Amino acid sequence: MHEYGFTLTYDDFDRASEGLREALTSTGNGYYCTRGTAEWEDAGPVHYPGTYAHGGYNRETTIMGGRPVLNEDLVNLPNWLVLKLRIEGEDAIRFDNVEVLSYRHSYHIRSALVQRELRFRDRAGRETSLRSRRFVSMAHSHQAGIEWIITPENWSGRVEVVSALDGRVANQMVARYRELEGRHLDPVSPRTFGAEAIALKVQTRQSNIYVAEAARTRVFRGDGTVDGPAAVQRSLYQMEDYIQQVLAFDLAQGRPVRVEKMVAMFTSRDNAITEPLAASGRHVLRYPDFAGALAEHESAWSELWDICDVQLPREPRVQLLVRFHIAHVLQVCSRHTARHDAGVPARGLNGEAYRGHVFWDELYVYPFLNFRLPEITRGLLLYRYRRLTEARAAAREAGYRGAMFPWQSGSDGTEETQAVHLNPLSGQWDPDLSHNQRHVNAAIFYNVWQYYQATDDLEFLRDYGAELMLEIARFWASIAHYNQERRRYEIHGVMGPDEFHERYPGAEDAGLRNNAYTNVMVAWIAATAPRVLDQLPTSRCAVLRARLDVTDEELRTWEDMSRRMYVPFHDGVISQFEGYAELDELDWDRYRAEYPNLQRLDRILKAEGEDPNRFKLAKQADAVMLFFLFDDDELRALFERLGYSYDRDLARRTIDYYDRRTSHGSTLSLVTYAGVLAGLDPPTSWERFMVALESDVSDVQGGTTKEGIHMGVMSGTLDLLQQSFVGSSISDGVLRFAPRLADRLDGAAFSMRFRGTSLRVSITGDKLTVLAQAEGFRGPMRVGVGDQVRELGAGDGCVFTIPAQAPSVR
Ligand code: BGC
Repeated sequence: MHEYGFTLTYDDFDRASEGLREALTSTGNGYYCTRGTAEWEDAGPVHYPGTYAHGGYNRETTIMGGRPVLNEDLVNLPNWLVLKLRIEGEDAIRFDNVEVLSYRHSYHIRSALVQRELRFRDRAGRETSLRSRRFVSMAHSHQAGIEWIITPENWSGRVEVVSALDGRVANQMVARYRELEGRHLDPVSPRTFGAEAIALKVQTRQSNIYVAEAARTRVFRGDGTVDGPAAVQRSLYQMEDYIQQVLAFDLAQGRPVRVEKMVAMFTSRDNAITEPLAASGRHVLRYPDFAGALAEHESAWSELWDICDVQLPREPRVQLLVRFHIAHVLQVCSRHTARHDAGVPARGLNGEAYRGHVFWDELYVYPFLNFRLPEITRGLLLYRYRRLTEARAAAREAGYRGAMFPWQSGSDGTEETQAVHLNPLSGQWDPDLSHNQRHVNAAIFYNVWQYYQATDDLEFLRDYGAELMLEIARFWASIAHYNQERRRYEIHGVMGPDEFHERYPGAEDAGLRNNAYTNVMVAWIAATAPRVLDQLPTSRCAVLRARLDVTDEELRTWEDMSRRMYVPFHDGVISQFEGYAELDELDWDRYRAEYPNLQRLDRILKAEGEDPNRFKLAKQADAVMLFFLFDDDELRALFERLGYSYDRDLARRTIDYYDRRTSHGSTLSLVTYAGVLAGLDPPTSWERFMVALESDVSDVQGGTTKEGIHMGVMSGTLDLLQQSFVGSSISDGVLRFAPRLADRLDGAAFSMRFRGTSLRVSITGDKLTVLAQAEGFRGPMRVGVGDQVRELGAGDGCVFTIPAQAPSVR
């Protein structure tokens, strides 16, 4: 691993960008995550110190126009960052009341450490330098630490450092949600543990989760090289939802002083505790000093980098951003996450957009994890398994069988999609019908199967996965109906991933007929579900079938559906849904000329009094998703089994058709298009990849990233490298590679884990080398490039010559 490409740095303080930078420099460990806010700033329009933990949801009702509107939010937890510096009794320093002489805000990707180096002059002309570093420990999931080094440059005097835990927080980040109730915490109690530690306990108002934080603050002379505890005078102030300790001490010109704040956070959902307040206090008192804790944290990250790093020496910017994405994915989904009841919030644990809800974005998150840290995917899939009962109830209530998972999921797996959505362009609350995206159920099925393919984890399939998959297959069989005339199965009343089409223009009923993406996924599910049963040991298969009452007739229906799902076509392309052909063409040129950014074309059209449903347009890849999730051979087999011809150019035509009509209003779409174009049009694919790669760091959607990173896109870019560019796929138990964009990938090297065995893959020129690590080897494995397939034993390596690729989708 090289040192280059591991730091994201900002060299100025910019009020307008601070929110974005806070989201991007959030630090977390997969248990909780805290935004990269300066410790000394309060929440307001510029700064927003948010902390979020997996599963920390709470529901509140807002009365809007006399109507109760219920929302579930991932709760902003008490702010543990608070450290403020008061010089000679004056107001605590803030960006607003000092002159910033020099400034650097950086995020050290290698250890997910946020650092600020600041030199400032206060109103009395005193010049001071302050270096702040902090981390949320990857070694110990409850632990976090902040270190300040303060150096008075041209003065000596007395200072006070205020170290607090602040429970007076609310969910107030997202302007669109501000009319909705944002108070989620009730105070419980403050407490001290000895002279050094303060603690605070709060409770979520409806879900009754107790959350406690404890902080131990110490001051040392020196900058860490020659340390000794400093003489400080401590005083305490506490309220029911706030506690602070003030540490007063003398500073001498040119002599640095180090302040350390070690923090522990626990919730009542944690294991092995009596209650969170006592746990946080006991733990924080035992924590080592900052340096010791940081060393353990760095060593935990270094182990993760050995597994997850992707080296791309030819492309320095790509290298930086790929590593940045890897770090953020692991900050939200780590081995700690797998021990909790946690799903993948679409916007990470870095902000409040989408209220911390879990959508279908997992589809883009798991491929990277499956081949490196599959135990994390396993844990995340269990989030769905635990909500199977709720999904079964939802299916029954809607008149279906099996399990119907919600479009937006939170604490208990009920539907969390809001009924109305604020259009910031018009100020109107429009009805939100997006819950009709039943395709999330296809994604869950697909995810379990992909996890199993990558890991061979039969125990998981046996104990959890098969049940999930069978119940989802059953749901699809019950929502589909047989159209006698067409002699085909159809699905009505659902939406595809494209959220701009919620219903037919002028129609009363929500949903569309025969969304092609959904129907083809269902055909694949219907063909795959029986194969799932075949994988299981006979006795388990019999027990599961008996318990779920999967009859022979049901299996026959699935078999029939796999051959007779209806797929609409028009003009030689797959129709996004039945009737898409009849919609009006949009005057794209006019809109392009009028609006600088068309990504949220739906809001633009609605604000103009137009109905997006009327037009041939799409927010994001919909039918095109099929070419992203399946390779050419798989799709050909699927379509031919359905009795549709799959000519060589169907993919190209369909992708091109929708590309011209898609606004990419979800950045997931850029990932998808980059993926499907990798074989057809490599330069355009790379361009899209670059936009996806830059989308969060440069906030291409103009303001969304400050409300939380996009987990699907961050991990989607990693998936693109692995699946679309290196071309890895599994077929018949063989891990195959079909590298594309060879010039960009020259020198690329990364590790993968396939069915328990670790591999090292590297590309040099037209050679691809695979090395099977002897350590932890789980048995011979087969890898292949083109027609060449080799079996590798422990410690074996082989070199393939990469054949020139014929253009193809995947
Ligand atoms: C996209 C969805 C996605 C959600 C959460 C929406 O804008 O249209 O596909 O699941 O964001 O990321």
